[in-house]
Amino acid sequence: MFEKNRIITIANQKGGVGKTTTAINLATALAAIGERVLIVDLDPQGNASTGLGIERRERKISSYDLLMGYNSVAETALETAVPNLWIVPSTMDLLGFEMEISQSSDRAFKLRRALNTDEAQFYSYILLDCPPSFNLLTMNAMAAAHSVLVPLQCEFFALEGLSQLLETVDQVRRTINPALDIQGIVLTMFDARNNLAQQVVSDVRTYLGDKVYHTLIPRNVRVSEAPSYGKPAILYDLKCAGSQAYLQLASEVIQRERRRKAA
Ligand code: ADP
Ligand code: MG
Repeated sequence: MFEKNRIITIANQKGGVGKTTTAINLATALAAIGERVLIVDLDPQGNASTGLGIERRERKISSYDLLMGYNSVAETALETAVPNLWIVPSTMDLLGFEMEISQSSDRAFKLRRALNTDEAQFYSYILLDCPPSFNLLTMNAMAAAHSVLVPLQCEFFALEGLSQLLETVDQVRRTINPALDIQGIVLTMFDARNNLAQQVVSDVRTYLGDKVYHTLIPRNVRVSEAPSYGKPAILYDLKCAGSQAYLQLASEVIQRERRRKAA
């Protein structure tokens, strides 16, 4: 099958590791270099939607409606203030998805079906921002995606959670999506003054080698302030170290996609 777009799911079952921050800023960086990018917010918390300045009252049609097949991608995607970047926002409706759909035999494939359309080919990149658990929403994301991008916070328990995640990816490959790739692992909230963080980086690189991006995302106040202004860090403060790191990450992601296409 000829695929024009790339669907990347941003997943880690832990909360607070930088999934949403990575979704927003990687998407913005890709959009800035001319890619047409869509984020699908799959977390009922809706942090990606809020972080991109989408007000609650604008979220009349959401990722819930997309998953349920009530509305198409074009009907659910909202324009953001970032040129070339759209988002399918989320609402608390998503909390009901799992219960409503759990008896359905195609319950893991709702998102794949919604994104496997001509409309979805309008976007060159689709990033899926997952909730912090291995629930049916995350499974839908893994079933729909070409690859997984894993943000990993530079902390003591990082590797433990990672092995669980990699097992889940293997399980997904054996069952619902044999073609699922690992796009890469990005180390987030890195603090160079912290010896433990240095150790985590070196351990992760030893275990996972070139799966780990060269880019390290530093812990950066500007990055954490930006969502409260409804802006990606890259718009809020382009020069800060966090924004620069996300631009660098985007170029690594694109390079990997080019290499994959050439292979
Ligand atoms: P997740 O989506 O995995 O739960 P978030 O992206 O929401 O994680 O990040 C968790 C918290 O950490 C948020 O308050 C966010 O602003 C903050 N944060 C994320 N990345 C950075 C960073 N590089 N520097 C400083 N704070 C960050
Ligand atoms: Mg999040």
